[in-house]
Amino acid sequence: KQIGVCLVGLGNYSSTVLAPALQLTKHCKLTGIVTGSPWKIPKWQERYKIPDQNVYNYDTVHQIANNPDIDVIYIVVPTGLHAKYAIRAANTGKHVWCEKPMAKTEAECQSIIDACQKNKVQLTIGYRMQHEPNTRTVMDWATTKPFGKIKTLRAEIGYNVSNPARSWRLNAELGGGTMYDLGVYALNASRYVTGEEPISVSAQQMTTRPEIFTETDETTHFTLEFPSGAIAHGKTSVGKSMHELYVDCEKGWYTLAPFSMYAGVEGKASNGTLLNIPIRNQQAKQMDDDALSIINNTPVMVPGEEGMKDVRIVEAIYKSAKLKGKVLAL
Ligand code: NAD
Repeated sequence: KQIGVCLVGLGNYSSTVLAPALQLTKHCKLTGIVTGSPWKIPKWQERYKIPDQNVYNYDTVHQIANNPDIDVIYIVVPTGLHAKYAIRAANTGKHVWCEKPMAKTEAECQSIIDACQKNKVQLTIGYRMQHEPNTRTVMDWATTKPFGKIKTLRAEIGYNVSNPARSWRLNAELGGGTMYDLGVYALNASRYVTGEEPISVSAQQMTTRPEIFTETDETTHFTLEFPSGAIAHGKTSVGKSMHELYVDCEKGWYTLAPFSMYAGVEGKASNGTLLNIPIRNQQAKQMDDDALSIINNTPVMVPGEEGMKDVRIVEAIYKSAKLKGKVLAL
């Protein structure tokens, strides 16, 4: 059986990445859409052969409960709306996939987890990197420690966006902010590289374009301290291009660069090991892995708890930055 996926929100990521990736998946396929923009419907129906009865708007999501073509509802709306629609999705009794970052607050994340538990449905967060093979190698090294103890790591993700679109990404209420949007990759990497949860955090935020970034961060730097003594330095920005993960250990180093792009994730280690396993399409792999968890009723690779751990730290990062870099215990 192929799992039927319904995309909620037909914005940039759904239309240019997820829907095309769903044409490459083996275990799932695009069967439904939820949109508040009726003009998008004919093109989507035609391109992906979606029948009238599988087209919904935000107010009719509850009706998906009765649709046998749909097994999963995939939330791909602005971050500040994830909780609202993920909870509605869970209440239909369908499984829930939710984009990163999971939500704006830890409390919202918990409410999504609770709704999925109550409805006995699976919940998985769209951290595509955790399905990418070279990233998996680095995640395994958190346990096997081939280069000894980790001393420090750097995780830097940024794009030089010269003209940021006036979208929800600049709107704090809707979950905008570079730390939420991009910084979460550096944060998640800090956690999967060490395999630990940080015990303290400090952060600074700065902007070179205050007229654009009136309520959200353009650039965030954060430092995490882990129980083993490892220190992570994270940077994220929409004013500067940067894409490297670098891990310095007692007996060597390794790196992935880029570590978070859709394609071309690769790296090397101080002993000459190359991290260069190819992958056809990250999102197709992610969705196939998640579909198999539903088909086989096995634990998901990236559960809601994983998304919530990051969001809790993101909240602490914003708090520390507001306090001018104060070190906060976690
Ligand atoms: P987008 O702005 O292109 O699309 C957002 C969609 O939500 C639009 O179709 C919009 O109409 C809809 N929407 C519904 N209610 C809205 C409201 N009140 N205000 C604004 N828009 C509303 O954004 P996107 O880039 O597609 O991002 C959507 C989600 O996907 C975000 O959570 C983002 O973090 C995530 N994302 C993940 C990745 C990844 O690599 N995993 C990449 C890009 C985006």
